[in-house]
Amino acid sequence: MTSVPKLFIPGPVSVHPEIAKAMAKPMIGHRTPEFSELFRDVVSGVQEVLQTENHIYLSTSSATGLMEAAVRNTVKKRALNLVCGAFSLRWHHITDACGFDSDAVGVDWGKALKPENVKMALDEADYDVVTIVHNETSTGVMNPLGEIVKTIRENSDALILVDTVSSMSGVNIPVDDWGIDIALASVQKAWGLPPGFAVMSISDRAIERSKDQPNKGYYFDFEVFEKYYAREQTPSTPSIPHMYALKRQAERIREEGLLNRFERHKTMAKMTRNWAENRGFELFSEAPYHSDTLTCINNNLEIDVADLSKKLLEKSYRISNGYGPLKGKAFRIAHMADTQPEDLQELLNTIDEILG
Ligand code: PLP
Repeated sequence: MTSVPKLFIPGPVSVHPEIAKAMAKPMIGHRTPEFSELFRDVVSGVQEVLQTENHIYLSTSSATGLMEAAVRNTVKKRALNLVCGAFSLRWHHITDACGFDSDAVGVDWGKALKPENVKMALDEADYDVVTIVHNETSTGVMNPLGEIVKTIRENSDALILVDTVSSMSGVNIPVDDWGIDIALASVQKAWGLPPGFAVMSISDRAIERSKDQPNKGYYFDFEVFEKYYAREQTPSTPSIPHMYALKRQAERIREEGLLNRFERHKTMAKMTRNWAENRGFELFSEAPYHSDTLTCINNNLEIDVADLSKKLLEKSYRISNGYGPLKGKAFRIAHMADTQPEDLQELLNTIDEILG
């Protein structure tokens, strides 16, 4: 391998030089006025992207840390884990590992969760929390989140915890309009930063719920987050380079225009789907619930996915094999963050050259 490959995997993604440059800025103390200014800028940047007035927590962890935090701070008696692939199933594993009762209710891999699935599940038992993934990275399905949240709101008082890990900032998620209690993401996906940091929006009712929760631990106790939020600080020393980068990325999103950014992701998704279907491949995700940030392509033509990946790597591109049981049976092309349609076209042309 002669150079660092361009990443078309669903995270980490290639980092734009301006983001890398922002991360290298001189260090500041995390209990200083200059830090609070940075904190404000980062919080307002995330609030703009999510169109929310909710508080934004900044976590020096990956998204899984915040998923565990969300569960520990909100589940009282029983959670409903809506499952449509590996990452939505992770919510169930976390709920179970934290010692709470929960039911995993779902659809087959490749299918999307629909409001009717959710309504049926809610009719079966009383839940104080519902978890869901917006964009299921293992299958390329983007669930109809707005409709699902509406159905939950109409049928239950459960808090709604949403993994928006591979969609936040690439797809429109109007948190306040829809009424999402917790929307969380790590930054190495559509945000386009290096891994090691995660962000989350939290509603007032989720903050309230956290106050009565026993056994939350300390690092991820939302009451502690709230205390420091009021001071425009984080509870412990955060990754300040990531905060510089998030601030810069929020500015870059403003420069591009939030809606233009969402449109760019849609355009790249369409390009990838058209390319796949024109070559005779099928999409693994059920229509019309295809993701805007990554495409999971069914290997119905039975190509050698490992060999394709190897040959692409020789040309300095990296794509993803199918996730877990889908290895060899599907492959995934991510098109998110700072990837431009021209970069994607280059990759698709290169795949064409290799496949012949
Ligand atoms: N949820 C989804 C949808 C993901 O795609 C991933 C990682 O790929 C995760 C959760 C886990 O994120 P992290 O590795 O940042 O903890």
